[in-house]
Amino acid sequence: MRTKHTNIKGSESELTTFHKSLDFYIFIKPKRTLSELVDIIFDRVQDILGMKKEYPAITIQLCSQDALKSNWKTYNKSKVPKAFYVHKSHTIFINTKTATKGILAHEMTHSILDNYLLVKPPRNTSEILCRYVDRNLGI
Ligand SMILES: [Zn+2]
Repeated sequence: MRTKHTNIKGSESELTTFHKSLDFYIFIKPKRTLSELVDIIFDRVQDILGMKKEYPAITIQLCSQDALKSNWKTYNKSKVPKAFYVHKSHTIFINTKTATKGILAHEMTHSILDNYLLVKPPRNTSEILCRYVDRNLGI
């Protein structure tokens, strides 16, 4: 599914699950489409960081915990997180079921920082900024 800022990859049912995870709807119809919501989060992250510009579309790969684990193994051996961003492929891998707006915003922040700044910031600096954005998302 292509949105203004992202390209979300997953089956129809994964897209529905992802939408429910982000918007907490069960019985009532959601206020926003998945595409609208993901772009709202991306715009909000850019606003908080004050880093507005044209970015290449981020790929959001929806994953089961097992798929997340096997993708994570390719990059790192430590404990598998709920989501992670890979700069080389410009892709956020995220657990479809445990996703939240905050988790998605956190990974989008990594992506924006790595693409906006000429030199990638130190890991600790990135984490501090990502956590700040995650907590101050307000949407
Ligand atoms: Zn992080």
